[in-house]
Amino acid sequence: MEEEDHRMDETEWSYHGEGNKSLVVAHGQMSRVLRLLKYSSEDAENAPQNPEETFRQMDNIVDFSNNVMGPLLGDKFVHSGEVVKLPLEFVRQLSIKVQHQRPAWRCDKVMDIYSGAALCLPNLTAPPCLQTHTPPLCIEIKPKCGFLPSPEHVSKDIKTKVCRYCMHQHYKVANGKWKRKSLYCPLDLFSGNKQRMYFAIKHLIEEPQNNFKIFKGGQCIHGDREELPSLNSLVQKLRPYFTCGTGRNMTLLHDFIQVLVDSLLSSDEEGNEGVERRREERTVCEASLCSKELIRTGSQPLPRDSVLGRILQVQLLDSLDIEGVFPLYRRVEQHLHHFPQERGRLQVDGPYDKAFLEKLQKCPAEDDGSIEYAVAKVQQYRVAMTAKDCSIMVTLVPRRDEEDGGDRAVSSSVSILDLDPKPQDGVRRQQRLDHRVVSSYLRDAPGPR
Ligand code: ATP
Ligand code: MG
Ligand code: ZN
Ligand code: MG
Repeated sequence: MEEEDHRMDETEWSYHGEGNKSLVVAHGQMSRVLRLLKYSSEDAENAPQNPEETFRQMDNIVDFSNNVMGPLLGDKFVHSGEVVKLPLEFVRQLSIKVQHQRPAWRCDKVMDIYSGAALCLPNLTAPPCLQTHTPPLCIEIKPKCGFLPSPEHVSKDIKTKVCRYCMHQHYKVANGKWKRKSLYCPLDLFSGNKQRMYFAIKHLIEEPQNNFKIFKGGQCIHGDREELPSLNSLVQKLRPYFTCGTGRNMTLLHDFIQVLVDSLLSSDEEGNEGVERRREERTVCEASLCSKELIRTGSQPLPRDSVLGRILQVQLLDSLDIEGVFPLYRRVEQHLHHFPQERGRLQVDGPYDKAFLEKLQKCPAEDDGSIEYAVAKVQQYRVAMTAKDCSIMVTLVPRRDEEDGGDRAVSSSVSILDLDPKPQDGVRRQQRLDHRVVSSYLRDAPGPR
């Protein structure tokens, strides 16, 4: 752990963004962010116990990213960062400073100002040594789950036809979390079919919710706000990056999406083998608008080594669905109830080291009734949950096109962020949520079943 300079100055840091679990501030000059934990002011259970506990949690996040998610997703995509200890006075001033910039709907949680623990990471939206006259453009996509569960493990047929994201959208709009429904479907983004991917990204641009953001020179210029973003104002902001061709609005947006699709599919490996799917697996979601129009365009494999291919393969570690994994979770909980001292040996809450990854990868295909099998399957599920919640950051830099003299943004790097371990009791929460989301969909959603 590094002790930060005691003269740290909160005026040099500003609000950058936040998720459900952490709040991020960015430095004005250095390409650095600090990621601080948040907790619910009402939920005493999740409140930080004491500073040591919070530091342990931070160390776990770094270990999990370094030793588990890095090897699974590919180290070139992952930046784990390091835990730092901040002066408490700095953290308090910072929390006051950022409070008014936080979106109202995120303010049910407060920033941790008691531990001084933070994660220091490279600022992926403002990469250094790219000091051209036009700053880089960074696109953040939170793709969510890109496959349908196997019919073997689910009790409701609908789960094998309509993807989890689309059912959850329905639930969130019905419960007032979002005003408008997003037409984005992850199955289209993960399809590998450029036309379907194009539509998926277009829908993300139109209704970003918390799945899509664009940063220009480190500032968020699209997404992350409550009012409907105007496509026209976005196009104006993208103009310096795409001045080739006729420059008509639709052409420009088209070029932008095309570059994104290519970055998401690009792969260093020769051969471009596709991600292996189950033979009977459906790869189109019935709720997606693409299902009717594009189903005939055929399926292309998603390159295994592309960023989407890597993420999908980790998501597929959830091979039993929550319904298949929940009985195994109960087996683990019962075992720990009788033998609490086993928690450490079984590495239920870490340490997230090489041995942890090995146990997870060497898990036998069949249930032998052992506690080790149950633990490994639950861990696979938890790792898959992390891959369903992560974000992709694509950095585009402007390049002069020699042929027509216009500018065309090209991809310069792709990273994956937000790779925290999911807690063991998250499995129980998922089981309840799954039931609520599916029942609500079956009750209200239109169309014949
Ligand atoms: P979630 O609710 O998705 O689990 P979280 O609370 O775990 O989110 P993050 O996703 O890690 O938090 O961070 C919140 C936001 O801060 C991100 O969506 C991204 O916009 C920004 N962010 C996080 N890390 C970085 C980074 N290294 N560089 C630039 N921006 C970042
Ligand atoms: Mg996130
Ligand atoms: Zn869907
Ligand atoms: Mg997260």
